[in-house]
This record gives sequence, structure tokens and C-alpha cells, in this order.
Amino acid sequence: MTVHSAIIDGKPVVAQSSFGVVNPANGIEIGRAPAMGEEDLARAIAAAKAAFPAWSAKSDDALQAACIAVTEHIKASAEELARLITLEQGKPLNGMGSRWEMGGALAWAGHTAGLSLPVKVLQDNQHGLVELHRKPLGVVGSITPWNFPVMIGIWHIMPALRTGNTVVIKPSPLTPLSTIRLVEIMNEVLPPGVVNVVTGDDSGQFNLGAAMAAHPDVKKVVFTGSCATGQKVMRSAAETIKHLTLELGGNDAAIVLPDANPAEIAEGLFWGAFINNGQTCAAIKRLYVHESIHDAVCDELVEFARGIPVGDGALEPTLLGPIQNPMQFAKVSRLVADAKARGKVLLGGEPAEGLFFPPTIIAGLSNGDPLVDEEQFGPALPIIKYSNVEDALRMANDSEFGLGGSVWSSDIAAARKVAARMECGSVWINKHAAIQPNAPFGGVKGSGFGVEFADEGMKEYTDIQVIFS
Ligand code: NDP
Repeated sequence: MTVHSAIIDGKPVVAQSSFGVVNPANGIEIGRAPAMGEEDLARAIAAAKAAFPAWSAKSDDALQAACIAVTEHIKASAEELARLITLEQGKPLNGMGSRWEMGGALAWAGHTAGLSLPVKVLQDNQHGLVELHRKPLGVVGSITPWNFPVMIGIWHIMPALRTGNTVVIKPSPLTPLSTIRLVEIMNEVLPPGVVNVVTGDDSGQFNLGAAMAAHPDVKKVVFTGSCATGQKVMRSAAETIKHLTLELGGNDAAIVLPDANPAEIAEGLFWGAFINNGQTCAAIKRLYVHESIHDAVCDELVEFARGIPVGDGALEPTLLGPIQNPMQFAKVSRLVADAKARGKVLLGGEPAEGLFFPPTIIAGLSNGDPLVDEEQFGPALPIIKYSNVEDALRMANDSEFGLGGSVWSSDIAAARKVAARMECGSVWINKHAAIQPNAPFGGVKGSGFGVEFADEGMKEYTDIQVIFS
């Protein structure tokens, strides 16, 4: 079995031992990644630190040109990366799967390359010149999850590079191979040490992510993952006063107002909830539907969901693959089994072979049910009937999370009023999870802090220096 090499200082690196990476569609090991330890991490951080002075001294134009070159180079390998994502992550090649993920990765890379944070003149008069400069931080540590390994890697790496930082990325042990390949491709056009990748599994004593978050030479950690781990990252980072961006998932509510058209919204609701099998930070995880159209929305949603082919993501017709890993499968199974005791299963509800779980829709639930209150992060959607919008808003906001939300209605002005009262970082009308590279994205409440994307996202990779003259 091929043992893939991590990349430190532009060179391939293996470790004394390695760990297996499994295709969730069939349980077959597809490759191995190095199980790295403290010394490897120290080397990677030292390489990024050594590369920082020259990289950060580049002109803004030169950084932009380098980021454009990186984007173009990734584009040439997009299909190869998409196939690797499908193999290790399980998502289909087609639909909102790995080719779509690569399209997103390239859109974000290209957009970020084109951004700029020029010097801002705050004052220029007889009392003097006051300028605000944005300066890179140094070594950025990126810790990524297994749901969108390449796209989230791009979200972390590109704004760091564009603003003159260097990077050490640590992918999830469940999906390290596509990140290794991404960094390899980046290193074909970047100077050594500017982007490094380290890999390890979490079975041993040494946790790479925790060590990275505690390391004094890492100046910022950008983390996407669970709330519990986000809290640990924050604790580890406290000692060395690091910059942090924490994107910690959510339990997004969608509110369907009484004037919505069930047939028209069914497809958007389905993909808003089941994108990537629900393993998406900003997906619909609770659906609140007005009683006057509740049954019609349920019928349309079930009808649409019945037509979705579920299977091995490597087969071209597949639109939903398996759940990515056994831990997640167990979580979804537990929440669905519990919900079946009180709710009405409209579709699915029983685990299938291996890690496959059919799209599951359960009505008759309410706040307080674990499938409604917890982040299921899987293909199981609870539907909650409401009778007035104030109740729907109260239930939607009654959550520790605050990442995304959506309102569905034929009256956009009325929907906007409801949207403004939702406690979350992004709210969409008649769509969900429609993130875009020119709009900042981040959570409130337990979903974390800091934003990604656009100028606001890039600013998080910089310190401000004000020069008074
Ligand atoms: P984790 O949050 O545990 O893992 C995400 C990343 O953090 C991995 O790279 C992991 O690597 C790393 N990590 C783990 N412990 C630490 C630590 N102490 N310090 C720094 N980094 C660490 O997610 P899981 O994969 O366990 O998934 C659990 C739940 O998280 C899911 O059920 C889902 O609810 C949520 N989730 C949210 C995501 C999102 O997009 N916001 C994405 C994925 C999951 P390692 O395992 O090697 O330590």
C-alpha cells in the first residue's frame, strides 16, 4: 500500500510509522499517511518560520501573482483531486460532490488572489499623515476537518499566503491524502517552506493539532471543526496569545413561512439540508414549517428525496455517498433511533449496508428532541410544525449555535424582516448554505468567532500597524 509523504520545506517526508486511510464506500484502505510526531511538527514550523521573511517581503503585486499561479496550477489537477476526495471522503464525483468542491476551491482561490488590503490613509492634513498598514502575522497553523478537505484547506491557506504569511496545515486523519496532494501541487510553484503539511492520527499520545495550537512560533490558528475541539484549541492558544479563527459548526434552522410554495422550494430545502449528506457546517439541520402548508412541504420534500441516487461516490450517477466515518455514522444512528420513538418517519430511518444511511426525514418533532437540539451532521432532517412566526423564531433562536439560517417565502420583504431577527452569522432567503467568496462567513454564539472570505476574512491574517508622521 502506498505510503504518501507529507511535505516539509518543499520536500517529501515520511515518518517512522504510518496510518491507513479508508474509502468509506467499501472499507478498503486506499493509502497510508505518515504518523508524525513532535519533531516533524517542529521541523515544519521551523521551515515555515524560515520562509516567512522572504515571503512576507514580497510586494503586493508579487504575492498576488504567486497566488494566481497557485490557482492556475491547482486548476490543472482539479479532476485528479476530485477523484482523491471521493475516494477518501466518500462524496460523489457529481452533484454537489467532489467536482463541485473543486469548483468551489478554485473560485475561492481565484477570488482571494484578486483581493488586496492597501494602506489606508486615516488622516492627511496640516496635523500630519496617519496611515493604517496591514502586516502578516508569521506562521499560520491550519487545522481542517474531513467534510470538505480541499475546499476548507483553500479557505485557510489562500488568504494566509495572499497577506504574506506562511502555513503549516494539519488535515483530519480521516482525509489527509487530498490535502497532501494539494500541498504538493502548491509546492511546485511556491518557494520551499511557504506551505507545509503534517499528518498524524489521533490514536497515539501525541496530538499534532493540540501541539500546533500551543507552539510559540505559530502566530495564528485557523480551525474548522467541532465546538469541543475548538474550545481545546482556544485553551492551548491562550499561553502564547495567538490570533484565532474558529469555525465550529452549527445547527442551522430554516423557517418556512405560510406563503411559501411547497413545490417550488422542495429542491432547495432538500439540498440545503442534505448537501454532502448533511455533513456540512452550514446546512439546514432543523426545518420549521407553518402548519397551513406543513403536510404539503413534507410531501414535496419526500417526493424529491426519493429520486436521489445513493451509492458509491465513484459511480457517475450517484448524488449522495456514504457517511464519512463510523463515529459519525454511530451519531446519526443514535439520533435517528431516538427520534423514531416520538416522531413520524416520512422517509428512510434505517441504516443500510456499511456506512450508508438513506436520506431520512422525520416529522412530528420539537425543540427538546435530541435530533433537533444537537448537530446531527448527517442525512437526517427533523421537521417541526409551528403555528405562528414568533414561535418559530423563538425555537430557531433557542440554540447554543449561530452559524447560518434561512427563511422561505414568496414575499421577500416579509422574509427579510424575519431573517434579520435570526441569531446567526449568515441568513439566506429561499436558499441555504449559498456561501460565496465575496461575502464574509462566520458564526455567532457557540459557532465560533472570526470570519472567513472577502476583505474581512483576509484582515484576520494580519496585524494592524498605524504609522503617524
Ligand atoms: P474534531 O473537531 O475533533 O476534528 C477536527 C480537527 O481538529 C481534526 O483535524 C482533528 O485532528 C483536530 N483536533 C482534534 N483534537 C484537537 C486538539 N485538542 N487541538 C487541536 N486540534 C485537534 O471533529 P471530528 O472529526 O471528531 O467530528 C466531530 C464533530 O464535529 C462532528 O460530529 C460534527 O458535529 C463536527 N464537525 C464540524 C465540522 C465543521 O465543518 N464545522 C467539520 C467536522 C466535524 P485529530 O483527530 O488528528 O486530532
